[in-house]
Amino acid sequence: MDPAKKCSNCGKTSFAQGSDYINLRPLGKKLTIGSEKVYTFCLACGEVHSIKILNPEKLT
Ligand SMILES: [Zn+2]
Repeated sequence: MDPAKKCSNCGKTSFAQGSDYINLRPLGKKLTIGSEKVYTFCLACGEVHSIKILNPEKLT
């Protein structure tokens, strides 16, 4: 985890990662398996710092 990362909402630097385990699928391709996404969020206030697609190659 990047130690220089700072919450844009509260300025704290403690982050955690989580997923809702719902796959994201590309528009118009409902039958694609898609990929899970990982949320990086502030542990102090819950602000989401970033959302990352775990396997972007599965969205093509
Ligand atoms: Zn925060």
